[in-house]
Amino acid sequence: VGISIYPDDAQSYEELVKAADTAMYQVKEAGKNGYQFYTQTMNDKVTQRMHIENYLRSAIAKDEFFVEYQPKVNIVTKSVYGMEALVRWNHATKGLIRPDEFIGISEETGQILLLGLWVAKQAMLDTKMLHDEGKRVIVSINVSSKQLGDASFVEEICAIADEIGLERGFVELEITETHIMKNVDKALLILNELHKRGFLLSIDDFGTGYSSLNYLKKLPTKTIKIDRSFVLDIDTNSDDRSIVAAIIAMANSLGKDVIAEGSETRAHIEALRSLGCSKVQGYYFSKPLKIEMFKEFVTNFKCDAT
Ligand code: C2E
Ligand code: CA
Ligand code: CA
Repeated sequence: VGISIYPDDAQSYEELVKAADTAMYQVKEAGKNGYQFYTQTMNDKVTQRMHIENYLRSAIAKDEFFVEYQPKVNIVTKSVYGMEALVRWNHATKGLIRPDEFIGISEETGQILLLGLWVAKQAMLDTKMLHDEGKRVIVSINVSSKQLGDASFVEEICAIADEIGLERGFVELEITETHIMKNVDKALLILNELHKRGFLLSIDDFGTGYSSLNYLKKLPTKTIKIDRSFVLDIDTNSDDRSIVAAIIAMANSLGKDVIAEGSETRAHIEALRSLGCSKVQGYYFSKPLKIEMFKEFVTNFKCDAT
């Protein structure tokens, strides 16, 4: 049930019903079987969504997307071994729009299929350019659940890598834990196929969902990426420290790699090092960079976290 009130929410019958309708959709989204009063912010959200959805349609054609790369650093070997590709949208009038504002909508509307392939292609082109210059880094690409569920995804991603001439062993696909565990048998099939085709795989945002340890063992994922929320207070909060220690111990015993995202401070790095985590990504070393800046970062890199 959605509820709107005259004359607070609207002046006309049509507007009043529309407001009630908007409120009702919020109830449905929140899991049905409930009621909501209409609020103005609901309307703002709906309008914002509609705008983004409409703009998205033409954004690829208008060349409004670009990709930034955040370095992945090994603090033991003191080297930059990889980078994560993160999409950005430079909208003609709205300016820069963050992925959190449009990835979800593009997933719901299916537009992520096209956008995801565009990002993959751009990221692989940039990586190939780095390889040709002797900088053999791994590129990590975020893959959404919609893409993974698309029957042609495996063939398409293979075709892009082959066309560009980039070794698949340098392409890592990041898939969130929540998605994998939602339908673990189906995910297992697709991930095994991608693994067979030579791609690297990583479980993103690890620790935020419910993992089945039994399946974790079977997944062909090489890397576990510890979610930022556990790293944030790792130097001050003993619970977070214990959780990270447990994830690392589990990864070690399963023969998997770990990387910690959201490593922002020297204290984070030291805490992670003391727990035996050698791979990190975060603002401490660098924000996501345009490819030219990333290249410079790699060239001038000196790891001072000793
Ligand atoms: P994510 O995969 O967890 O990516 C990491 C996010 O954390 C990025 O945000 C990055 O800029 C941010 N970050 C990196 N280091 C730090 C740090 O030290 N502290 C803090 N607080 N944040 C840090 P961004 O670029 O806004 O991306 C947000 C999310 O959007 C990503 O989260 C990912 O889920 C999604 N996304 C981005 N690009 C793509 C894409 O091409 N395809 C898909 N499907 N999703 C994408
Ligand atoms: Ca990611
Ligand atoms: Ca994350």
